[in-house]
Amino acid sequence: MSFDSLGLSEPLLKAVAEQGYEKPTPIQQQAIPLILEGLDVLAGAQTGTGKTASFTLPLLQRLMENPDLRQKPREVKALILTPTRELAIQVFESVKTYGKHLPLHAEAVYGGVGINGQIRSLRRGCDIIVATPGRLIDHVHQKNIDLSRLNILVLDEADRMLDMGFMPDIRKILSFLPKKRQNLLFSATFPSEIKALANQLLQNPAEVEVARQNATAANISERVYAIKKEAKRELLSYLIGNGRWQQVLVFVRTKHGADRLEKQLIKDGIRTAALHGDKSQGARSRALEAFKNGNVAVLVATDIAARGLDIEELPHVVNFDLPQVAEDYIHRIGRTGRAGMSGEAISLVCPEEAYLLEAVEKLLKREIPRVADTGYEPVSLKVMDAPKKNAPVNPNGKKDYRHAKKAPRRNNRQSTGGPRRKKT
Ligand code: AMP
Repeated sequence: MSFDSLGLSEPLLKAVAEQGYEKPTPIQQQAIPLILEGLDVLAGAQTGTGKTASFTLPLLQRLMENPDLRQKPREVKALILTPTRELAIQVFESVKTYGKHLPLHAEAVYGGVGINGQIRSLRRGCDIIVATPGRLIDHVHQKNIDLSRLNILVLDEADRMLDMGFMPDIRKILSFLPKKRQNLLFSATFPSEIKALANQLLQNPAEVEVARQNATAANISERVYAIKKEAKRELLSYLIGNGRWQQVLVFVRTKHGADRLEKQLIKDGIRTAALHGDKSQGARSRALEAFKNGNVAVLVATDIAARGLDIEELPHVVNFDLPQVAEDYIHRIGRTGRAGMSGEAISLVCPEEAYLLEAVEKLLKREIPRVADTGYEPVSLKVMDAPKKNAPVNPNGKKDYRHAKKAPRRNNRQSTGGPRRKKT
């Protein structure tokens, strides 16, 4: 199937051709005709499937077909909500790229940067807004944006918005919108809250789904190194050096852990930068740029910071810490093997994380292959063998692992202590 057969107009086909896209991805083949028809769409697609173009291309075309546009240029007609500023910036770039031969104007609004520049841009008026929820609400309250004549709403990565505690903000934003509009909801996973939101938001939606829910892309080779926590850093340096890895994204659990690992790897002579939510927008952009242009080989990131990063052909992803939420494993390794490229995803797992690995494998419904010889003392990743934090020490000097089964099992979203509100 070609892009020509999807019903897209010339200016869009030209922009797509300029990107070098030869044929539409499966989500694009399915979603574009439905969105062009004006239907509400519920789409199951994760990052790397071409989902952004699958809603942006038909959205641009719908706006061009809208008679309103001629009467009211630069009045907000489409809103794309994203969970993070990185994703907002990326989607904004896509809107500009695909819409470059069209007389439509887009703006992006997100937190973490000064509001005044955004106010100035918004005052000039725009047709499309890409936004994170918190900052958008600020602009609406300050009357910098009027959403009362919106035609199309897109919720991108809705499951992540839910996970970050944005549901109240989304409900508030819905109250600013006209009742009659086209709604598109994109999500990688469908926990019950997303299903409830979809029921409330979408009118007779068409449903499309590409990769099976909770499935990882088939062109990613995954491996687990069972290793003691203390040996992880050394092994990582060895793997990077020995494999001559030029571009590797390393996931850690905490901001502090990201800074610490960055320092250690730099000490080991590896060009490294860290990306996390405590860094200013400028520092984050610089780190990302340095990683993209090859000035740093390793980007150490937390889940939130890495969300939505579009780094093409990323060959290596490492889970230095396993994620607390099993679904994040899928998001993380989706950074590699994108758009048809093959990639490698490695997890360094210590016995204390055995229960997290068990949760990931339960979600995937398969075992991730173990590396037989890690070059280090073998350790067990059986949950019942896992050391309990502060486990009492036996007289023989070994930790008492008898209570290990009671290790916390925070392996799903419901048990993470409720929504966590993050600044956008
Ligand atoms: P996304 O899933 O939207 O984050 O897109 C993942 C990557 O695939 C981006 O780098 C896009 O530029 C790229 N992409 C999107 N559509 C196509 C296509 N039809 N052919 C090749 N690459 C694509």
